[in-house]
Amino acid sequence: MNLSTGKGKTAGVVGMGRSGAAAARLLSSRGFIVVGFDSLPSSRGSEHISRTVFGGFTDNDLRDLSVLVLSPGVPVSTAVSRRAAELGIPVVSEVELAWMNTTADVLAVTGSNGKTTTVEWLGHVIRSADIGIKAVVTGNTGYAFSDAILDNPQCPVFVVELSSYQLETTESLRASSAIILNLTQDHLARHGTMENYGTVKARVFLNQGKGDTSILNYDDPLLERYRNTSGGLQMYFSLTGEVPLGAWMDSSGMLLYRDDSCRAEVIHSTELALPGRHNIANALAVICMAASYGIPAERLAIGLKNFSGVPHRIEPLGMAGGLTWFNDSKSTNVDSLKVALDSFNEKVILIAGGREKNSDYSVLNELITEKVKALILFGSGAEPLFMQWKGTVEILMVSDLEEAVKKTLSLAERGDTVLLSPGCASFDQYSNFEERGNHFKQLVQVLK
Ligand code: ADP
Repeated sequence: MNLSTGKGKTAGVVGMGRSGAAAARLLSSRGFIVVGFDSLPSSRGSEHISRTVFGGFTDNDLRDLSVLVLSPGVPVSTAVSRRAAELGIPVVSEVELAWMNTTADVLAVTGSNGKTTTVEWLGHVIRSADIGIKAVVTGNTGYAFSDAILDNPQCPVFVVELSSYQLETTESLRASSAIILNLTQDHLARHGTMENYGTVKARVFLNQGKGDTSILNYDDPLLERYRNTSGGLQMYFSLTGEVPLGAWMDSSGMLLYRDDSCRAEVIHSTELALPGRHNIANALAVICMAASYGIPAERLAIGLKNFSGVPHRIEPLGMAGGLTWFNDSKSTNVDSLKVALDSFNEKVILIAGGREKNSDYSVLNELITEKVKALILFGSGAEPLFMQWKGTVEILMVSDLEEAVKKTLSLAERGDTVLLSPGCASFDQYSNFEERGNHFKQLVQVLK
């Protein structure tokens, strides 16, 4: 299938969000006539779409399509995608479309947690190595791959964050280096079993061969089954001990890297820009990806040290009202909340809540007793979370974030640390975690 020349052809794009608009832009730049599909008439249009089919569709709407491109949030099981497949129309992801329209290298990152931090850190490390490689970060980060290739035609390497949704319909993408950071239960609802979920993630290694590198977290037992399953060179990263090839932290806290031709001490964990053990794992992932791509190991420490972090991921907000505040609005599940609490040496006042997931939050009880001074619960999940956490520490329930900040001020002592790490989705009160985090930042800002 050729998606780089579309003269006289028609392409469908499902989902008229940011990635769908980017796909339409790319397709029309290649000469395709673009038909949009969306369930909601309220979704955005695009100057590159000649016609949009809202809600129900008929076979007539699909008849002329040479290809159907799915936005990242659209499953292959969606009706229009299934019908297109039945009619023999190729169905591809927006990432696949972009890949077919670039000759640049791709460094691909997937996993359950840490993707955005890792891709942003990796892009920064490559650029800071100062060897003339301008890496652009794209994918599931809000900057669609299709936009990235059109905006940066000379870019030699794209660092691409891939969700499992995108990997479902990625067929020919071949990453120079690809990594699975970890696997947790968070996305099970969509993929059914852990095995299916892992199998979709492992598609990040598809098509890899000689000269490519496939990287796995050595410490994650759920990833064992994917060792040596790709055509690329197998590397690992580990927080707990030496690996055959790849990056690890030794018992002194030094981060090392080894491949066929070198063994190097890269940086000490205490010098890393970001806090927490999870970020040491992310740094090891970055080291493996950058070094295997050819960035000299001795040039990696610069960007590992001076990275400014990613908003909403344990983002320091500074002092306000005599307290130190952190915004971890991106924490939308039990695991993220756990890693956030693990990142603090001192006890924190924890603000959590939102729309709770169908998970066992009581696994955190011990950690809460150890790391939390007081717990403030907000949103629709306040009640169910309270039921799981009662008996740990002092718990207060409030309706929303504004009240949560007020309550914090009334019970905190000067010098306390306050952490918003909801552990829940934001959709009960916000459209996304960014909006929730920005609201929290505003509430803290006015205290300054
Ligand atoms: P993603 O893009 O995969 O959602 P992010 O980089 O946005 O990941 O981080 C989301 C949250 O996941 C962070 O706030 C942090 O709590 C947690 N996290 C980050 N890195 C890791 C990791 N390596 N292992 C486990 N949890 C992590």
